[in-house]
Amino acid sequence: MNRVAERSLSLLYGREQLDPFSQSRNVIGFCGICDSELESLAYYCTDQEWLISARCKRGHLALLRYDREWNWKEDLPLEFVKEEIRVSDLDGEMLNSVFTPAEIRDMIACQQGRPYTRQNIYRARAKYERFEKLFGIKIEI
Ligand SMILES: [Zn+2]
Repeated sequence: MNRVAERSLSLLYGREQLDPFSQSRNVIGFCGICDSELESLAYYCTDQEWLISARCKRGHLALLRYDREWNWKEDLPLEFVKEEIRVSDLDGEMLNSVFTPAEIRDMIACQQGRPYTRQNIYRARAKYERFEKLFGIKIEI
């Protein structure tokens, strides 16, 4: 299965990881599942072909393959891959407004596979919803 990252839109295509060449949104055809319009998410290019990740209005995904001259070859199935939020990449002020320093330290330790205090993770979990409401970021640890 080909997979596209939900936020960065980088594409896992076979063994290749392709970053978007362009993220322009265009109607590029019709969904093979429900027949509604397909809109491009991102364009990618390889040495041999162009690829477009696309989504229809009902949320079906497809990966469209073209040759270098833009002759359509085939549509392939595509799915989103969730990108795990790294707590260590989040803004410190955002984290500090919801979590205690011990909770933040142990969330990062847990994600990095280092020893952590379980109670701090339990306490932090109880606050994930608040954090998501405030900043729109869903943490899952
Ligand atoms: Zn559809």
